[in-house]
Amino acid sequence: MRITVLGSGSAGNATLVEADGVSVLVDAGFSGKDLERRLRDVGVEPASLSAIVITHEHGDHTRGMGVLARRFGVPLYLTAITRAACARLLTGSEDVRAYASTEPLRIGPLEVQPFLTVHDAADPVAVTVRDVVTGDKLGIATDLGRPTAAVRQALAGCQVLVLEANHDEAMLWNGPYPWSVKQRIASSHGHLSNRASGELARELHHPGLLHVILAHLSEHCNDAALAADVVGVALDRLGYAGGLVVAPQERPLEPVDVAALRRRAAPAQLTLL
Ligand SMILES: [Zn+2]
Ligand SMILES: [Zn+2]
Repeated sequence: MRITVLGSGSAGNATLVEADGVSVLVDAGFSGKDLERRLRDVGVEPASLSAIVITHEHGDHTRGMGVLARRFGVPLYLTAITRAACARLLTGSEDVRAYASTEPLRIGPLEVQPFLTVHDAADPVAVTVRDVVTGDKLGIATDLGRPTAAVRQALAGCQVLVLEANHDEAMLWNGPYPWSVKQRIASSHGHLSNRASGELARELHHPGLLHVILAHLSEHCNDAALAADVVGVALDRLGYAGGLVVAPQERPLEPVDVAALRRRAAPAQLTLL
């Protein structure tokens, strides 16, 4: 399984997951043109996409979905409630496929398992993606007001985590947003702080965890080095030896190949035995 975060933040989110000739785009929050450019930058022709799966209707997750689905005939997966909430982005000519917010979707060897999140959207979910051939599991969890027991359970046992680290709490409260926006972001229906992200990463840590990608960082109320430091300290205490990177907003991250990560991790794990 290969994972490429095409960009992440309040101006747009999209993550590409590929396995055995199948490619699934989770969220399409950049303009159609921008998504095409980002896909081609990582060597993927937009027409080759197998599916677009949308987690919730916010513009930073849906902006280019209609354009991409129409222009390249890519099937677009939405829950019925999310579809209704972003109907203005659709013309009716897309190949829209409804999914239930707790039922797995099977796209080639990839099993996409949605799970409910607490967030200020109509029917928000996050997803795990499992390669049924290799057993590798990826968790993509952003736009989390708070990590519920169900969220922690769904994300257990992932080899790779794309995890929200939205804001530094002090930077948020001292930052430029109006009071109402600050309250919304910090609420149980808003976004995870670096500290909360570190706590969740610690809870999700297990010996098979290979790579953590911090995502959905606030442009004004966070700093990549600070987010990596807070989550890194939380994981270091558990002896985590895997990767920790921050997904930028403006460009795709290097693709992550789970099999290659495992091969690299194997010598270290063997010496422990
Ligand atoms: Zn978002
Ligand atoms: Zn959102």
